[in-house]
Amino acid sequence: MTALEATGLGKRYRDTWALREVFLSVPRGRVVALVGPNGAGKTTLMRLAVGLHRPTTGHLRVFGAEPYGEALAQVAYVAQDKPLYDEFTVNEMLNVGRHLNPRFDLAGARDRLADLNIPGRARVHQLSGGQRAQLAITLAVAKRVDLIVLDEPLASLDPLARHEVMRGLMMAVAETGLTVLLSSHVVAELDEVCDHLVLLSRGRVQVAGDIEDILRAHRMLTGPAGMM
Ligand code: ATP
Repeated sequence: MTALEATGLGKRYRDTWALREVFLSVPRGRVVALVGPNGAGKTTLMRLAVGLHRPTTGHLRVFGAEPYGEALAQVAYVAQDKPLYDEFTVNEMLNVGRHLNPRFDLAGARDRLADLNIPGRARVHQLSGGQRAQLAITLAVAKRVDLIVLDEPLASLDPLARHEVMRGLMMAVAETGLTVLLSSHVVAELDEVCDHLVLLSRGRVQVAGDIEDILRAHRMLTGPAGMM
């Protein structure tokens, strides 16, 4: 079964078509990068995937079901302004997660944060940008969902923090078989962690497929071999 299947998907806000005629098929267990310039429609596609918007045209199925009601129990969304409380400690954030969700994997989340050297007694506002991203991702993974949707998890991070966040994501995917959909403005470095790439521009899919194949084709066109 595919993780995400879009058929003729479109979304209009008043007079703006944010997405148009999108056809997509994303296999499960992959890390999928959604890239494109500002206004390309990345956030809109992610919000459709987590049931925050409804399509204007077409369908988006997540693990075979429209993402409403019970199907949403399989999905976690981390918005760009991460849903963390600055005055809470890391442990308190984990307790909130458990309080809100009986399936929350408290022990697993504690282990992950220990591996990442994020102290449970630290307050959220004391964490670096990379640690905040790691905490938000850990909270999402602990929900034991099948799909995690991350809006710009690497934004405003330095290269070391980006590398650490991507390493953390790879560990989570290897441990749980999750599917991850993340958005990014930059393609560089994504091939470290992503296996599937979807390039959006002005609401349309320009390219989608295996990231290695796409980058190889891009290098052939732009590198020395392509210039011969
Ligand atoms: P960014 O990288 O800047 O976050 P994006 O690729 O995520 O951009 P979207 O936020 O999905 O793009 O926006 C796609 C288009 O839809 C843009 O033209 C945007 O102005 C418009 N849009 C997005 N949300 C709304 C809204 N709630 N009401 C009206 N127009 C919107």
